[in-house]
Amino acid sequence: MKKVYTADSPAIAWHFRNVLEQHGIASLVKNDLLYSVGGEVPIHECLPEVWVQEGLNAKYAESIIQSIENNESTKNDMWLCQRCGESNFESFDICWRCNA
Ligand SMILES: [Zn+2]
Repeated sequence: MKKVYTADSPAIAWHFRNVLEQHGIASLVKNDLLYSVGGEVPIHECLPEVWVQEGLNAKYAESIIQSIENNESTKNDMWLCQRCGESNFESFDICWRCNA
């Protein structure tokens, strides 16, 4: 497995995972649960990470993530969950945290 991205929040990590899946790349998010206990673990060890299989998919995944990062408008398309107040990407139909 290869780490292709370290996200600032679980919402971002899951957003990238969704996008990669739309491109047919299987990926997994690590540390998204540890995020909530930040403070007990050094911050760089508990940031959520996106991992994919090594090889061609990893290169493809990195290029996709790069293009998303270059597209600043992505960050303006977030919505706030009315139940838990978590921010979600527009592509999410339900809140990633509470499923509302
Ligand atoms: Zn929520």
